[in-house]
Amino acid sequence: MSKTKQKEKPTDVIIVGAGIAGTVLAFHLANARFKVKVFEKNKREDLGHDWCDSIEKDAFEFAKIPLPKSKEKREDRDHLVILSPDFKKQIHLDYYNYIIVDRLLFQERLISMAEKAGAEVNFGVEIVEPMGRGQWVVGVKTKEEKIENARIVIDCSGSERILARNIEILDLNIELKKKEKVRAYRELHKVSKDEISWENIPIEKNLLYYRYGYEKGYSWLNFEDDKNLDIGAGVGKGFSERSPKAIVNDFVNSKKNVDNEKVRGGGGDILMRRPTTMVWYGFLAVGEAACQVVPTNGCGIGPAMIGAKIAAEVVADALRRKEVSIDSLWKYQVRFMEKRGRDHAALDMLRRQVLEFNEDEYSFLIEKEILTKKDFENVIHAKYSKIGLWKMTISALRGLNRIKVMLKMRKIVKATNRIYKHYKKMPKEYDSRKYLTWMLGHMSLFEDLEQES
Ligand SMILES: Cc1cc2nc3c(=O)[nH]c(=O)nc-3n(C[C@H](O)[C@H](O)[C@H](O)COP(=O)(O)OP(=O)(O)OC[C@H]3O[C@@H](n4cnc5c(N)ncnc54)[C@H](O)[C@@H]3O)c2cc1C
Repeated sequence: MSKTKQKEKPTDVIIVGAGIAGTVLAFHLANARFKVKVFEKNKREDLGHDWCDSIEKDAFEFAKIPLPKSKEKREDRDHLVILSPDFKKQIHLDYYNYIIVDRLLFQERLISMAEKAGAEVNFGVEIVEPMGRGQWVVGVKTKEEKIENARIVIDCSGSERILARNIEILDLNIELKKKEKVRAYRELHKVSKDEISWENIPIEKNLLYYRYGYEKGYSWLNFEDDKNLDIGAGVGKGFSERSPKAIVNDFVNSKKNVDNEKVRGGGGDILMRRPTTMVWYGFLAVGEAACQVVPTNGCGIGPAMIGAKIAAEVVADALRRKEVSIDSLWKYQVRFMEKRGRDHAALDMLRRQVLEFNEDEYSFLIEKEILTKKDFENVIHAKYSKIGLWKMTISALRGLNRIKVMLKMRKIVKATNRIYKHYKKMPKEYDSRKYLTWMLGHMSLFEDLEQES
């Protein structure tokens, strides 16, 4: 009897990275009955962060991922307190649309969802570069082998950007500057007695506290539950040499009722800039690999989920139509920019310029409410709202004794408005000449400002 070997169905999609973007994408594409292979360099048990992260609530609904329940979810926080670097001013935001989630449990749930939907997730496989054929991306390479014949290849490798940075086209392989990264670190510690203060400010257990502008970044305190305090900091690389771990340790060492031993925690670099180009022939980048993190707060999980859902819809449509060129995948670029990218670009401009202020100037801007409650609400929720010049005139009256700071603020407002407008003009269809002109335009807007500061 002759045996006929069943021919393996060609892979529709190769995804590199089983983090947030990779697993959300794999789940949706496998659910839509495409053959999906994911390659992740780490072991399954080592995935996710050994701490809790704040994630935008809306991103779950958008990405059609059920909200975390039971052990995966910590106490709800719907109220955030912004502190000036000198602690003299508190701004209470009563709208805070984030939930606090155990990242290890959340990551495992996403992997299981992707696997149950039919995606093949391969752990312990490190990808070193993409495989090209002409202008097309057709597969990936490990140190030992080539994995090819995929119809679409997607980079979800987070801050490594392992595929994108090896595609020498447009700004996919852009060398990120030091100032476009933040070093972040957080630790969870047990607190023995109830009362705890930050300088002179008593910390309430149901509130999350953010000190914006300290060490060219931000630091925070949040009781995850009755006894455990999350202490963290993000420091703008290239702006400050201070280590965020040292900021956390200083706080712990200064408090008698905070246990010296950490319960859990860790840190890493976050890419804080506007998105790069996100598509090419047979190729997409999603999540931090496409620089989709909110540039003003370092939150990249929500945007990675949103990016993954948009990418899944566009990829599914392209595969069904058997048309996976950049013209077809461009819809992902356009939809992400409309949903988030143009806000991120304006916030990126805002962040770069505001970081040039020293702590004293920053405290002044908060104290005089030149940076208002509404501004912080927008910055935290990744929304850029166009600040009108009339508003700046009113603010200027409050800042008459700091005319240099006010002039700088005025320049920032103009520059952020300009970049937002420029992003609205990004070509809706892929046209290499028009896109290149647009890209050069956006680069020069950023360069102009960098040279001036
Ligand atoms: C200390 C710290 C605190 C943070 N806190 C928050 C927070 O509170 N809220 C929030 O929203 N965001 C937070 N972030 C940022 C957030 O973690 C990331 O932006 C988010 O995880 C990005 O998702 P992603 O899927 O793009 O990448 P990741 O989740 O990083 O996934 C990338 C995956 O790709 C894999 N990979 C990388 N290279 C390769 C390769 N060569 N071959 C195969 N696999 C590879 C990695 O192992 C990883 O599993 C924090 C980051 C840090 C460092």
